[in-house]
Amino acid sequence: SVLSERLAAGLRDIPDYPSPGILFKDITPLLADPELFAASVDALAAAHRAGTGAEVDVVAGVEARGFIFGAAVALSLGVGFVPIRKKGKLPHTTVSAEYTLEYGTAIIEVHEDAVHPGQRVLLLDDVLATGGTAEAAAGLLEGIGAHVVSVSFLVELAFLNGRERLSGRDVKAVLSY
Ligand code: IMP
Repeated sequence: SVLSERLAAGLRDIPDYPSPGILFKDITPLLADPELFAASVDALAAAHRAGTGAEVDVVAGVEARGFIFGAAVALSLGVGFVPIRKKGKLPHTTVSAEYTLEYGTAIIEVHEDAVHPGQRVLLLDDVLATGGTAEAAAGLLEGIGAHVVSVSFLVELAFLNGRERLSGRDVKAVLSY
C-alpha cells in the first residue's frame, strides 16, 4: 500500500550491526520525520481505538525503542503506559524474565503491580526479530495478571520466524520483511 511504502522509506538497513551478519533495520529516519512518525503511531493504534472491538486498558513497551512507540500510542489511545525495562532499572518490586536474543541474552523486568489483574494490554515494540524479547515481555505481563490483547510491531523480520514464539497470541505488524 501507499502507507507501507511511505513508512518503509523511513527505514534504513545497517549491515553488520550490532554484530557481523546482522542486517539492522534503523528506524531513526522515520522518527525524525513528523509525518512518518505520526503515520506509524496511527497504524499501530488503529486496531485498538474505542469502538473497534479490540480496546485496551494500557500499553506496555520494552526499552528503549518500545518506549518511543509505546508512549506515543498510549497517548493516542488515551490510556496509560507500562515500561518493561532491562534488569536493575525499575525502583519498586519487580518480576523478571531471562531470554535469548538474536545477539546474546538479556533480563527484562516489570513492576509486580504494573497492571491490575485482567487488565487488557497492548504490548508494543519497534521490531520483531527472533521473538525472544516479545515472548519474555508477554510472559511477564501475563505473570502479573494481564490479558495481552495484542503484540504489535512496526516491523516484523518474518524470515526469523519470531511469530512462532508468540503462538496463541494476536501478533500484528505494520511492515513485514
Ligand atoms: P528479538 O528478541 O530477537 O525479537 O529482538 C527484538 C528486540 O531487538 C527488539 O527490542 C528490537 O528493538 C531489537 N531489534 C532486533 N533486531 C532489530 C533491528 O533490525 N532493528 C531494530 N531493532 C532490532
